Amino acid sequence: MSQKIKKVVIAGGGTSGWCTAVALSRQFGTLLDITLIESAEIGTVGVGEATFPTINSFHKINGIDEQEFLTATRGTIKLAISFENWGRKGDKYIHPFGSVGKPSWIGGFYHYWLAAKARGYEGELEDLCFERQAAKAHKFALMENPRLNYAYHFDASLYAKFLRKLSEEKGVKRLDGKIVEVKQHPDTGFIKSVVLESGVSIEGDLFIDCTGFRGLLIEQTLKAGYENWGHWLRNDSAVALQTEFSGDIPPYTRAIAHDAGWQWKIPLQHRQGTGHVYSSAYISDEDARNTLLNNLDGDIRVELRLLKFNTGRRKQAWVKNCVAVGLAGGFIEPLESTSIHLIQMGITRLLQLFPFEGCNEHLIRRYNEQSRAEYEETRDFIILHYKATERDDTPYWRDCRDMVIPDSLAGRIELFKETGHLYQGPNDIFSVDSWLQVLMGQRIEPRSYHHAPHVISDEEIRAGLDSMRSKIAEAVEKVPSHTDFLKSYCAIS
Ligand code: FAD
Repeated sequence: MSQKIKKVVIAGGGTSGWCTAVALSRQFGTLLDITLIESAEIGTVGVGEATFPTINSFHKINGIDEQEFLTATRGTIKLAISFENWGRKGDKYIHPFGSVGKPSWIGGFYHYWLAAKARGYEGELEDLCFERQAAKAHKFALMENPRLNYAYHFDASLYAKFLRKLSEEKGVKRLDGKIVEVKQHPDTGFIKSVVLESGVSIEGDLFIDCTGFRGLLIEQTLKAGYENWGHWLRNDSAVALQTEFSGDIPPYTRAIAHDAGWQWKIPLQHRQGTGHVYSSAYISDEDARNTLLNNLDGDIRVELRLLKFNTGRRKQAWVKNCVAVGLAGGFIEPLESTSIHLIQMGITRLLQLFPFEGCNEHLIRRYNEQSRAEYEETRDFIILHYKATERDDTPYWRDCRDMVIPDSLAGRIELFKETGHLYQGPNDIFSVDSWLQVLMGQRIEPRSYHHAPHVISDEEIRAGLDSMRSKIAEAVEKVPSHTDFLKSYCAIS
């Protein structure tokens, strides 16, 4: 059978470039001839260190060993995100990756808890989630029963290095050089080659644009267009740094809301990454920097970086013979750590739809439709965190609270408020339990719930929930600390 796409050129060697290289080389081996071009002079964004559980599947599909990966990237386990000051100043809730209670035909075990609460039960919903209890107690183990749902924190530059080694072992060629020109076929507009500053020209059949925000191929050359979501997600800047960190390592990210944005704290084995994400329309870079400096847990190891970004997505992720992956394809700000997830979903989709016989318009349409749906459903969940606030202490929070949100999200919130029903959309990475934790964590309570639990007596429902809660607590008690787990798994001292 004819194969028109043989030579693949990956432009960019950040997280997206090396994830693409590892996946294509491990899955398609000698079917492709892969070259990755990166520029040490330009560098990478260098942040992006908290992930979503789907990274586990990406690693499994591509044969990446967890222990080697965590050791090489000085990684830690992420079971949850702790949200602080979001609903109101002083509020705190944990959004764990695990499910709450047991699977139920109703589609949400939480209806039982809502029914019990309406009858005077005082136990907390969050006590019914293993990952949440383990996160709170700073514990972790690799377990079969229950199998924990978790992601990772890691050092982004070490992750790129680790993936580079795996890719080169599989034959990926790497060039260090700056692309200064992109040549197109005069008749079709397809990309023919990229030219480096040194004058070397690299030809290809398929080009993967992983050049970050600049979108050198997909935007600067092919003019895919950008849909800006800044009116919903106002943050457009971040200052980031790394601090010393010692002691007990929490298995969760902290997301602490400030006056015009929020701060992440990401614990690694050897340091903490932290940064303040904010809207430049509400706070100056200088004040944002001071907010960060006033909220550090340790001495600064690596100095401040200022990053600017536009939240939104490329209107078409795949144009002609070019597919944009990573920041070149879009960015929905760092809250809930969706960017690396979207990168790996985009790559998995490319593997599934790989155009061996040429860039067929049907493949392109399918790829772009799925990409759009994934970005939009993810966007809605992130907007929820800003809309569902009672904060009115700063103009930023007032504007977030009062903004008009997409109909798709408004309908979901109203459905929950009125009836207690929640659902996971077809391209939604966030489960019903995730929606529930954020809605209730930010004080949106339903007026009603499913009546199926009414067939159970007060005593039965109370006893059932109490037993579940104490079984989880007893099991968590036996789990080792996260720090001890890392010490033995990654041989750290
Ligand atoms: P980049 O890292 O920008 O890499 C671009 C590559 O292209 C580089 O190798 C560069 O050298 C190369 N390049 C560019 N131009 C040229 C040229 N002309 N010639 C040759 N090479 C070129 N994501 C998460 O999942 N979790 C998080 O916690 C998270 N936090 C974030 C916080 C902030 C403030 C920001 C801004 C982003 C965050 N992200 C996060 C997103 C994450 O950083 C990115 O998704 C990830 O780093 C991938 O970036 P990239 O590889 O697409 O682009």
